[in-house]
Amino acid sequence: MDRIAVVSLGGTIAMGHRGPDGLTVSLGANDFAHALARPDLSFTGVDLCSRDSSELSARDLSDLVTTLTRLGDEGIHHVIVTTGTDSMEEVAFALERLAPASARVVVTGAMRAPTLDSHDGPANLRAALSVLTSAASRDLGVVVVMNDEIHGADLVRKSHATSTASFTSYPGALGWVGDGVALLVNRPATRRARLEGPLDPAARHVALVTTYLGDEGRTLHALGEGSLDGLVIEAFGSGRLTPHAADAALTLAQRLPVVVASRTGAGLLEHSTYSAPGSESRLLAGGVLSAGWLTGVQARVLLELALRTGYSARLAELFAEFQI
Ligand code: ASP
Repeated sequence: MDRIAVVSLGGTIAMGHRGPDGLTVSLGANDFAHALARPDLSFTGVDLCSRDSSELSARDLSDLVTTLTRLGDEGIHHVIVTTGTDSMEEVAFALERLAPASARVVVTGAMRAPTLDSHDGPANLRAALSVLTSAASRDLGVVVVMNDEIHGADLVRKSHATSTASFTSYPGALGWVGDGVALLVNRPATRRARLEGPLDPAARHVALVTTYLGDEGRTLHALGEGSLDGLVIEAFGSGRLTPHAADAALTLAQRLPVVVASRTGAGLLEHSTYSAPGSESRLLAGGVLSAGWLTGVQARVLLELALRTGYSARLAELFAEFQI
């Protein structure tokens, strides 16, 4: 008999109660396991926390990784993680770096709460289970299953505030769920930037800022005056900053890791195309790292996790894995 764990963190999928201040979590892992019950499967429910995903912390991530390791030690390698959609792409991206290699992990949630007739949680849970139990979906790494689509953890993003079709991938989903089975049309080429070290539960202060037309670099200067462990800057297009922002970024890069990602949300940064004062060539020559094709949000997670797992001397190598 296949053993499956449902690990619940909260989120809209679990918000079955509407109080005077709005939705609150009232459902947990055992409710989801009960909804999925099948005679050929045995379910274990783990309630890790009951929060809106805007409230998840660095420690929740390390508790999640510890839980996956413990479940693996108990012989449970198939896991559905339920969480809020707002930070789901970060949870999935982090798990792709840190989940035990033997774990098959599907992350899911809901855009519409159980208090609504149009609640999408039950369908998403069933689709997640279909993916976990389909032989075709082995070796995909961590995936997000929402709205019957299967998304790779390194490609997925929440791209609409309220739509049930909010989750998309660039350049596309890995497949979809139809008739209770996973249909795969794409496969990730490899698992990138796996982090082996134990994850320090303490957060690192890794900030994420976006540049803009006329950016005078003041935000970067102000950040530099605080206690910062690392910085990700969402740059224009394929990697440029305004001249002032570039100066500030280069100053900061002399004492802490600074990474540029594209604020466009997709595509590979360039290395030596333009000659503007804030060009990618000048930034990279001054020690700023390129996030490759990672979004700013993903690059921020990677940088923080790398610092929490003792990879600070190998940051360039880690980010290089997203440039090939
Ligand atoms: N606010 C919710 C969250 O916990 C949104 C959702 O789950 O859809 O992220």
